[in-house]
Amino acid sequence: MTSHEVLRRVFGYDSFRGDQQEIVEHVIGGGDALVLMPTGGGKSLCYQIPSLVRDGVGVVVSPLIALMQDQVDALRDLGVKAGFLNSTQYPDERSMVEAEFLAGELDLLYLAPERLRVEQTVRLLERGKIALFAIDEAHCVSQWGHDFRPDYLALSHLHERWPDVPRIALTATATKATHAEIAERLKLGDAKHFVASFDRPNIQYRIVPKNEPKKQLLELINTEHQGDAGIVYCLSRNSTEKIAEFLNANGIKALPYHAGLDANKRAEHQSRFLREDGLVMVATIAFGMGIDKPDVRFVAHLDLPKSVEGYYQETGRAGRDGLPSTAWLAYGLQDVVQQRKMIEDSDGDQVHRRKLNLHLDAMLALCETVECRRVQLLEYFGQSGEPCGNCDTCIAPPETWDGTIPAQKVLSTVYRLRNERRQKFGAGQTIDILLGRKTAKVIQFDHDALKVFGIGTELNESGWRGVVRQLLAQGFLAVEGEYSTLVLTPASEEVLYKGRKVMMRREPEKKAVKAVKAAKAAKAPEVEMPAEAAPVFEKLRAWRAATAREQGVPAYVIFHDATLRQIATLSPTTLDELGTVSGVGENKLAKYGQQILDELAT
Ligand code: ADP
Ligand code: ZN
Repeated sequence: MTSHEVLRRVFGYDSFRGDQQEIVEHVIGGGDALVLMPTGGGKSLCYQIPSLVRDGVGVVVSPLIALMQDQVDALRDLGVKAGFLNSTQYPDERSMVEAEFLAGELDLLYLAPERLRVEQTVRLLERGKIALFAIDEAHCVSQWGHDFRPDYLALSHLHERWPDVPRIALTATATKATHAEIAERLKLGDAKHFVASFDRPNIQYRIVPKNEPKKQLLELINTEHQGDAGIVYCLSRNSTEKIAEFLNANGIKALPYHAGLDANKRAEHQSRFLREDGLVMVATIAFGMGIDKPDVRFVAHLDLPKSVEGYYQETGRAGRDGLPSTAWLAYGLQDVVQQRKMIEDSDGDQVHRRKLNLHLDAMLALCETVECRRVQLLEYFGQSGEPCGNCDTCIAPPETWDGTIPAQKVLSTVYRLRNERRQKFGAGQTIDILLGRKTAKVIQFDHDALKVFGIGTELNESGWRGVVRQLLAQGFLAVEGEYSTLVLTPASEEVLYKGRKVMMRREPEKKAVKAVKAAKAAKAPEVEMPAEAAPVFEKLRAWRAATAREQGVPAYVIFHDATLRQIATLSPTTLDELGTVSGVGENKLAKYGQQILDELAT
């Protein structure tokens, strides 16, 4: 079969997207490829189709052990002969897959990277015929990135053992640095690079000041995402459990997920998230890589991510189906203090800490920008764009203001406290002094006698917190030591003594925030379905849910929403007609076609 025939007959799609065709042809021709494509861009077909067209088995290296079963189930449902080998299997299951591989009965074999360290696996592969190696989540080889997996380093040997087998490395995350590192470490010197646009236009990016995070989250869900599936990211294990509890108490179905839960519980929660409708997963970043649930409608961050790469990958899990989705982050002064401190306390040398600080600086710059968030995100990945009209700063542009004088007030307070040397003080004490508050701690240290006491009545507490946050973000202040003491930096001297100006971001008014939410409603998907098709769609959904339950697979493995919508609209009466719908391949037509026609007829 040609690649086009495979696309149509196996996957049921009419045409390739973006660079897919070029990539597929290149690999079929035996060339190596490095593919950078955002989440939802369609990376899987880039190695699945060549595996089916070329002689032999496509070996897919993936770190996503917990998802291999679902991936293989989905392929089998398409009629593709797929199997996997990883540490979760019983020996006899493994032997069965190995036998299938040797007998040439597989089209695709998924492998965890650590399997390739086992000599037995390498010998097994040498005895079969390999069509290609696909290295998924290739950024895991990068030590500069945030998902480093030492096992990935060993993948550079694939080329030495199998010099004639083409390799295709794929990732949804790559700055220039990571991109170069992947090519180098995987020895992809002769590979052709395919870099797609990283824009995800259907995701609305919003970053808001954090006041009462729980309440803010609840409002987001209740006003914009009721009944939707979503992911809430928190920094600590403890807070994932607390927030999940809080959401449940407020009538929103939620589950926690973190590396401290035992493996069974983790697997159960992941599986429920994939299978049930409208569940919210409250998780640490241990959750989500490779989760290809297409209808995650929002990703909320309650704590500041450590890097833009991580943030973009996490938010990228929203809206894989291309429908409008929200990426929402609440961020405040405490986040900056905490992260700077975590970096200071981290193991590793100066170089390592410098790297972490650079990552954080880029993330902070994104939070504090008054320009389009999307333009800034894309620039981070070395791509350019126009203001998007679908992020908070585009919809309600924040103003900048000259914050030099408030900045000087904060910095000279910090300077005076620093001079005392007896005791170290954080942001709270600094703000109390500026506001002229006679708290017990202010009186205890005679801080009401300082020249700066009470000189900051032009702003309220949250205004000052905003100023300190932005000074930290822009490098005019730093934190140090056990008590997160505020300290001056070389840049602060320029503000204090050399008249350097400090520009700050003014948070938009409440009214403007409402406009952002309204814009979202206006952009809501026009469900491309006439009104009379809606009940038919619901009927097909019920059929799909029952079928998925019977087979123990997620509903989207059977058919995507978009496919069911098209079927409901077309209302086909014959199998041939049904086969024209995008997403209905030959195998699915044979397996489910008659059932669907029966559903439509009743
Ligand atoms: P990625 O791995 O890049 O995140 P996937 O490979 O999971 O993305 O593809 C995202 C979605 O787009 C999947 O549901 C897939 O079936 C669908 N898709 C991919 N290529 C095509 C195509 N050429 N036509 C229609 N749908 C496609
Ligand atoms: Zn924008």
